[in-house]
Amino acid sequence: MLRVDKVYKSFGDFGAVNGVELNVEKGQIVAVIGPNGAGKTTLFNLITGILKTDKGRITFNGEDITNLPPHKICKKGIARSFQIANIFHRADVFTNVQVAVLSRQNRTYTFFKSADKMAIEETWQILDAVGLSDKANHIAGSLSHGDQRILEIAIALGNEPELLILDEPTAGMSPDETKRTMSLIQSLGETRGLTILFCEHDMDVVFNVAESIMVMHHGETLIQASPEEVRKDKRVQDAYLGGE
Ligand code: ADP
Ligand code: MG
Repeated sequence: MLRVDKVYKSFGDFGAVNGVELNVEKGQIVAVIGPNGAGKTTLFNLITGILKTDKGRITFNGEDITNLPPHKICKKGIARSFQIANIFHRADVFTNVQVAVLSRQNRTYTFFKSADKMAIEETWQILDAVGLSDKANHIAGSLSHGDQRILEIAIALGNEPELLILDEPTAGMSPDETKRTMSLIQSLGETRGLTILFCEHDMDVVFNVAESIMVMHHGETLIQASPEEVRKDKRVQDAYLGGE
């Protein structure tokens, strides 16, 4: 579904992404792991068009999407969440998701339209799927950090993506919230047939959930393989257990 082929990105003289390679099959849950500064966020910014690549090719469903603008990539079916939550803090939870659904349908939120025309049902479905229905009328800014991150996933789902990209979805979460988020990610893959690509710096978090793991180090792909193979890999062990 997604193929990143020898992609490069430098900031000045500094090569943040140095020939990275990544493959995501339809329906898979794929994790990118690597220490802070490995280039994970930069890679996601390149895939989603927020940054332009210096070199290399990115294809999605067989189409070259390299350096397309973000809104075009989004239209093709790739949605993402950010490492830092990106929500309308003063609107309620329901409205945050509803606006995302409406914007996908090229319609604008308005107080003057009848309720059935404003994606009510779809919004409730998404809130149910992520477990936020009972907080639908809460002001987004009043939610716990964990719920705000979940809301962000809900907003991304409003775009009805084929591929959902999540940048450190459990960052800053308590152990309970982390568990809940990881099982949410798993269930979204199963029940909605979504393909999910996410990154993490915590190796332990991903091993139960990911079907394929790409290990990134200094902007390069160290390995992409099953969790078992990655765990056994000598280079991965060296990169994580000293030898940095
Ligand atoms: P990760 O998400 O794996 O922690 P990042 O992709 O955020 O890593 O960053 C990779 C490297 O690129 C880091 O050394 C970071 O400081 C650098 N970097 C990221 N974005 C920029 C930028 N806009 N300008 C300069 N350097 C950047
Ligand atoms: Mg990052």
